Amino acid sequence: MVVVMRPDAVPGEVDAVVDRVESAGGSAFVSRGVQRTIVGLVGDVVAFEGLNLRAMPGVGEVVRVSKAYKLVSRENHPDASIITVGERADVDLGPGTFVLIAGPCAVETREQTFEAAHMARAAGATMLRGGAYKPRTSPYAFQGLGLAGLEILAEARQLTGLPVVTEVVDPADVPRVADFADMLQIGTRNMQNFPLLQAVGAVRKPVMLKRGLSATYEEWLMAAEYIARRGNLDIVLCERGIRTFETATRNTLDVSAVPMMQALSHLPIVVDPSHSAGKRELVVPLARAAIAAGADAVMVDVHADPTAALCDGPQALYGAALDELAAACRDLPPMVGRRVLAAS
Ligand code: PEP
Ligand code: MN
Repeated sequence: MVVVMRPDAVPGEVDAVVDRVESAGGSAFVSRGVQRTIVGLVGDVVAFEGLNLRAMPGVGEVVRVSKAYKLVSRENHPDASIITVGERADVDLGPGTFVLIAGPCAVETREQTFEAAHMARAAGATMLRGGAYKPRTSPYAFQGLGLAGLEILAEARQLTGLPVVTEVVDPADVPRVADFADMLQIGTRNMQNFPLLQAVGAVRKPVMLKRGLSATYEEWLMAAEYIARRGNLDIVLCERGIRTFETATRNTLDVSAVPMMQALSHLPIVVDPSHSAGKRELVVPLARAAIAAGADAVMVDVHADPTAALCDGPQALYGAALDELAAACRDLPPMVGRRVLAAS
């Protein structure tokens, strides 16, 4: 069961709900989102029904949620959420808008990052991506620049005005990455790293949760629930392809995830065609498919010289392919009822 507080509820009213639930032998946890505060109840639902929580001051509604995931479920929150990213509230991810996120897979050098950031902005991106901490399959592969990479990303944000999404892989790094980033990314390989999910649940920055390599929709939403459960409701899902029997592509983009996540959850959904395909020539067609399916955003890798890239060069866009992506991201979203956000 979930108690949704009214937007104008004061802290004492939230505490009163928690006290009443606990006095009935239940436990209550509070999630304070930017737009609303939610109290999740665990215990005897029949006993809770008798508490008349609906009549308490500050309570908006009381919802019985049948799904295993509660806070992130559409049942609990019938309207799609809008997640706002950036210091100046620059980017709204959610229904009605379309956002392009672009940038290098990894921050390699200042020059390479700035070049990719300018390419991203010129292609119409309103957010910059780039990894400073890279969760590589091989321990011998480039692992990212770490703190130095975060500093370069902050400079790139300054130069372009684009808010930054970057990955965090270690719970101990979460406060530091949250200081630099506008949105924290949880990568595929960490979708079920529960201490990491809890750590990003405790900060006041939006989180992009990528789908695990072989994760079902329910496993993915349960991972999101870990973040929400700790109080951070500003979560964006990212479909980035799943492991199937097909080996011709790096992964198989599950386009169904877009309408399915929008049906099961109120959270926005981003599609990453670059990590889905692993091949540059497939990125634009898959981006088009994602937009047609109703994705809230598309996130792509760009690199000025992919042959020299330290990470994922074969899937990075540049030149004519990037121009084609820009055209798709400008022309297609209005056909499915979305306004394309432009960088200010
Ligand atoms: C990335 O986006 O940089 C990345 C590592 O992707 P994934 O976690 O989807 O493999
Ligand atoms: Mn990559």
